[in-house]
Amino acid sequence: MEKKEFLSSLVEHALEMVLVFDGKGTLSYANAEAREKLGYGGEKENIHISNIFPMIFTKTEEGFSTEYAFERKTETMSAYRKNQTCFPVEARIMRSSDGQYVCMANDILEKEFLGKEVAQVRYEAEQAMKVKSEFVANVTHELRTPVNGILGNVRELLEIESDSGKLKNLHLMERCCENMGMIINNILDFSKLEAGKFTLDPQRFHFKNMLDYVKDSHIRRITEKGLDFVVSMSDDIPEYLIGDELRIVQILNNLINNAMKFTSIGRISVEVVKTAQVNNKIELYFFVMDTGIGIDKKDEDKLFQSFSQVDASISRQYGGTGLGLNICKELVELMGGTIGVESEKGKGSNFSFSIWVTVPEGEEMPAASVPVQGIPSGFSRRKPLQEAEENDIRQYGSEANKDQLKRTLSKLILCVEMENWEKAEMFADTVKQLTGEAPREVKSMALRLKMAVQKENYEKTSAAYGALDALIDEEKSEPGEGQE
Ligand code: ADP
Repeated sequence: MEKKEFLSSLVEHALEMVLVFDGKGTLSYANAEAREKLGYGGEKENIHISNIFPMIFTKTEEGFSTEYAFERKTETMSAYRKNQTCFPVEARIMRSSDGQYVCMANDILEKEFLGKEVAQVRYEAEQAMKVKSEFVANVTHELRTPVNGILGNVRELLEIESDSGKLKNLHLMERCCENMGMIINNILDFSKLEAGKFTLDPQRFHFKNMLDYVKDSHIRRITEKGLDFVVSMSDDIPEYLIGDELRIVQILNNLINNAMKFTSIGRISVEVVKTAQVNNKIELYFFVMDTGIGIDKKDEDKLFQSFSQVDASISRQYGGTGLGLNICKELVELMGGTIGVESEKGKGSNFSFSIWVTVPEGEEMPAASVPVQGIPSGFSRRKPLQEAEENDIRQYGSEANKDQLKRTLSKLILCVEMENWEKAEMFADTVKQLTGEAPREVKSMALRLKMAVQKENYEKTSAAYGALDALIDEEKSEPGEGQE
């Protein structure tokens, strides 16, 4: 094929409309796409540029008049079909050196229509989301009042009641109200964050006092569970800072509660270090580390999404709404930081987050006794001795394991005597973990103990307790003996 023929064929079959007008504006060529879109057959004579683009060109004696600049710029305009209906096009009309005019145009009717439809759908979705978020925020707000009312009355009754049966029920009601209050607060925060209505309230606060408060509010429950609790901070953090203290406490509480929920043996540690400074702002890194059940690598990413829990069995066993970590992520991001997790299934999790806070004017900036280089990694910061100790506790038959088992069992039976079945179940869980590597006989007795506790059956619990206690004594501190 000749080059000229090849080029004409290309133009004829182009996806774009191509029109050529002579110096007077009369159509001399229209390619297949243009003929089809404009509804012209083979005829070209008597079709004037003002018939196709009447808003831009006016027919005159000499040819046409226009204010169009004939630039190489594409503009949106209306193209008229033979039947006088029109459609939007993106077009460019150029003057060629031989005095002709070449127009290239694309039909954008569908694109414009789709664009409008998408904008409408997006608008409607946004409106629906806003109404839903406002509704959720209002309802949860309204729910708070009756729940607090019940809680107040229950606490008053707790002070005057002496009957142990009634006290047990009242304590249960108190805990239910507290849990419900926590869920309501989470939903309220979540809907506010989602609606973009959440604002931080930065104030001057004493950093170490805040950390002590967090420690004091958890230490009793953590140590009762038989876990160690260590809280530490690097010494280069100024005494006073400006930030949203309440929200920092909320994030820490959430991570510590999770750590406690998912850990039966070992320790929970909280550590804070200063990692950067720009003018009067500093970056703080918080670590909340546990030696609990850990998280599968494949589940780590979805943890921070709303309503996400690792699997249904976890939510059944441990409860929760799956909102906590999502709220933490949103809060941390509002404070200019990031949140993440490093975890190993069966070994523990290390949640860490960073935030930026302001150092008040005149506040002293203490120097670090040990400079922090980069971001410390949670696991590498666990001392080898600690790790060895933890492994030793898990090793059935070792002195440490036997000791821990005995202590856990006596706490369990004490809870049973006091009819605190819920706490007893927590200890039964720990017993199950401590006997994870034991011979089958011991393992099945630990399971029987847990089931008896779950059924709140006093006789079966004491029988299983006695049998397990005897089996542990039989294991004459010979690590590994009789293991499967
Ligand atoms: P929930 O209120 O259900 O605890 P979160 O958003 O706080 O919601 O946690 C979501 C899920 O992440 C939990 O259900 C659990 O599966 C997992 N998870 C969170 N923290 C830990 C942890 N320290 N160890 C193991 N799993 C965890």
